[in-house]
Amino acid sequence: MIAPARARRPGASRPSSAEPEDDVSGCPFCAGRESATPPETFALGPPGRPADAPGWWVRVVPNKFPAFGPWSDEGDKEGLFARRAARGRQEVVVHSPRHVRTFSDLTGREVEQVAEAWKNRVATAKEQGFPYVQALVNEGREAGASLAHSHSQLFWLEEEPPLVAQERAAQEAEGGCVLCRVLSEEIDQRIRIVDERDGLLLLCPFAGRQPYEMVIAPRECSQDPFAGPDLAAALRLLAEGIRRLHVAEGPVPLNAWLHAAGHWHLEVVPRLSVLAGLELGAGYFVNTLAPESAAGVLREA
Ligand SMILES: [Zn+2]
Ligand SMILES: [Zn+2]
Ligand SMILES: [Zn+2]
Repeated sequence: MIAPARARRPGASRPSSAEPEDDVSGCPFCAGRESATPPETFALGPPGRPADAPGWWVRVVPNKFPAFGPWSDEGDKEGLFARRAARGRQEVVVHSPRHVRTFSDLTGREVEQVAEAWKNRVATAKEQGFPYVQALVNEGREAGASLAHSHSQLFWLEEEPPLVAQERAAQEAEGGCVLCRVLSEEIDQRIRIVDERDGLLLLCPFAGRQPYEMVIAPRECSQDPFAGPDLAAALRLLAEGIRRLHVAEGPVPLNAWLHAAGHWHLEVVPRLSVLAGLELGAGYFVNTLAPESAAGVLREA
């Protein structure tokens, strides 16, 4: 439901985006504090640099407080209620040795190194029996980030998560790739496209759920984000989209994630409104900024 008039209702101004009390002096992700994290599983840096010492460019460590594991192989069933182990691993990719607070402040080289780290860890996950990796970036406390220092998370999973499986099923049911058809229509209409680079599109999707919701996707149908140079290009476009969002709205909490099945894409959801009863209880999302308007604002930013 696109309802711009609701933005003018009393008390509708967005929640004050009080950023986490950002304690740089205690940040476990800054260079020099390697001992504050579990030992690294991967890093990019100069040749010969010892593990868990400064000098790295991008560093991957296990999440200290994972949602998954330790697990046993037992499942069980008590009447109607079945349990099974939450099998998976959870890694954190620290995007820079500098205390950078948003993806859009990374250098072009750092963004490329993030893509390289994602690719490397996904290959390892697959080798170790986790065929799907959910890669995501949370920024701001209201979006679930507990630390301000720019990072992403990689969830190693044994199966495609429900939303990804649902998107894939919808594509298959329609016969032919739905996203290809959507993108070609968007290119014809030129209303919701924000930017286009390196064969990828950045756009505010039709009927987006939240103000400034964005999608980034390769124009040509592509099933594997981890092959070839497109992932780095998509992450560069993510940085550009967030930069434009900041110009338009200042610092905004947001979630971004990769859907790595079917025609792969990144989705970006700024958290400018709170999900309430209608969203959670009825499945209707009320968006107070039409995607067509949002795209116009972002193009100018
Ligand atoms: Zn830091
Ligand atoms: Zn496609
Ligand atoms: Zn998706």
